[in-house]
Amino acid sequence: MDLDIKTLFSLTMYIEAILGLLLLLAWWQNISTRAVAWWGVAHLLRSLSIALYGLYGTAADLISIDLAGALLFTSYGVTWTGVRLFHGREARPGSLAAGASAWMIACQFPGFAEAGEVRALLSGGIVATFSWLSAYEFWRGREEVLVSRWPAIILLFVHGALFLLRTPISLMLPPTTPIDRALTSAWLTVLSPEALLFTISIAFVLLAMAKERAELRHRTAALVDPLTGLANRRAFLEFAEQIRRRQVQRMRPVAVFLVDLDHFKSINDRFGHTIGDRVLQIFAKVSTANLRSTDLVGRLGGEEFAILLADANRDNAFVVADRIRRAFASTAEMVDGRPVEATISIGVAIIQDPEQDLDALIEQADQALYKAKAAGRNRVALAPMADLEAGRADGRETPAAAQIAA
Ligand code: GH3
Ligand code: MG
Ligand code: MG
Repeated sequence: MDLDIKTLFSLTMYIEAILGLLLLLAWWQNISTRAVAWWGVAHLLRSLSIALYGLYGTAADLISIDLAGALLFTSYGVTWTGVRLFHGREARPGSLAAGASAWMIACQFPGFAEAGEVRALLSGGIVATFSWLSAYEFWRGREEVLVSRWPAIILLFVHGALFLLRTPISLMLPPTTPIDRALTSAWLTVLSPEALLFTISIAFVLLAMAKERAELRHRTAALVDPLTGLANRRAFLEFAEQIRRRQVQRMRPVAVFLVDLDHFKSINDRFGHTIGDRVLQIFAKVSTANLRSTDLVGRLGGEEFAILLADANRDNAFVVADRIRRAFASTAEMVDGRPVEATISIGVAIIQDPEQDLDALIEQADQALYKAKAAGRNRVALAPMADLEAGRADGRETPAAAQIAA
């Protein structure tokens, strides 16, 4: 495909400007993602830089070489800053401007404007550095699962590498007239088909990534309790039902615990709401630490929690519940230097009949919890089992000795 250089100049300038405005519009609609605004500004700066490159021969070198290059390298620094902000890292204005500064200094040397190869080498170095730094920032943040992260890393890495390769390529090109040399240099920096494809692809990938994150956060917010980070009531009931159904199909048991903080109102009254909140967070931490990753904990509301244990029979469910109870009592004895001595009561129910639904199981656990409270709190009570041999049919509670030891 042959495009005359003027058409390519206008086309690239126009596309960069449209992409910049598109990103700014997306940012304006979703202000929380500041990085998108930075990425938009980067494209607008590139559009401006190309316009200045296009003035070569008609405007002073100071504008068409010095300033055009400085704007181009600033734009790459701005993209990199956007990636840093996207990952919650601070902007580094000094480093952002380093590329443009190096270029402006180099432009002060006599003969630099004519030394096409040297200019291409410096341009390549600056663009590759910022592109690779941006790719590195995305790589560093890979713990946050975003599908569009990977095309962004690949695009930025390849773009940086190709920019570096342009210097050897430019050395292989036949010598040209001065005006051609300027155009060749612009071609090599901003006007290659690769640069055009890159700029279009990266704008869409970055936009997709910001959108992907916003949607992910939205979805998570609807399922997670903000204070404890546990599943909220809705999420717990939904996931618990999925696990229950799977276990019933595999003919495996499930156990449900209902947990309630003891005398929590009094803890709030004596130590304040902030300490009360800390106690709830401690429960979240202790329970999670004492469960397997396949188990489920959720905050049903207020100071009431539920736990679902897969593959737990009556005995090991009791052991796990009592382990959580003891671990919590010892961790919440002192909270932020205050003698809070918070404890929990737990009601445990085990599924006995495949027909039994989650609501029925929770209801049984609730009755057991009521028993644990009535028996003096800081204990685990098992729901009675219909088909159990006589003598145990009334359920079981933590032996008094175990509570004293706790
Ligand atoms: P019991 O041992 O019988 O369960 O007594 P209790 O005081 O724990 O029971 P009650 O239901 O009377 O009190 C629950 C308290 O939990 C009342 C409410 O102010 C407090 N609470 C509910 N949600 C939160 C919360 O998010 N943070 C704090 N700090 N307190 C909460
Ligand atoms: Mg309570
Ligand atoms: Mg309660």
